[in-house]
Amino acid sequence: MRLPDENYEFIKGEAAHILKTCRIRSIPINGFEIAIKCGILLRPYSALSDRQREAVTRISSDGFFIEDKHGRSIIYYNDAPSFERINMTILHEVGHYILDHGISANGNTDVEEAEAKFFAKYILAPPPLVDRIHPTSARDIMDWFCISWEASVYAFDNYNKWKRRHMYHDVEEYERIILNLFITKTNHIRKRLSAYSKHLIHA
Ligand SMILES: [Zn+2]
Repeated sequence: MRLPDENYEFIKGEAAHILKTCRIRSIPINGFEIAIKCGILLRPYSALSDRQREAVTRISSDGFFIEDKHGRSIIYYNDAPSFERINMTILHEVGHYILDHGISANGNTDVEEAEAKFFAKYILAPPPLVDRIHPTSARDIMDWFCISWEASVYAFDNYNKWKRRHMYHDVEEYERIILNLFITKTNHIRKRLSAYSKHLIHA
């Protein structure tokens, strides 16, 4: 489903705002960290009783967001799949929360679903951050941002479109916010790893 351009721009701005208020300064973007810093409680399906697990799985096989009677925001998530999938699920539900979609356990509209999906995909690999690693393929994005192959292919394609556009346009305000958060050298993770292996060789 294709949303109006202004919806996408709004969601990108919200994602930048969340990264800033949660003081996220390193990749991969961690949904658990963002949810906790937003004051959302996290409940993995594996921590529930058999009966409860059956009930939550009937609502969603991946996860959902509710507010309990005390006004607490809670994300229930299936913790059986891969980290990449769980991380995506949690950020999708954070998206419903941030974008004021109401309780996702009650079901969301198609527009709300498309918005939450876009929020998760964008915040996991925003093009200005992808640019910092100078990717030559989707594989590079998969390695650095710890996202699924499918999400990496989307992110690489989206990044290339962004790069073409920014040959002629200045970065947007929300992109500047994101870039200012990640001021460390792009390759410090790899550098640190190689320094560590050198240390092992000479030890
Ligand atoms: Zn949803």
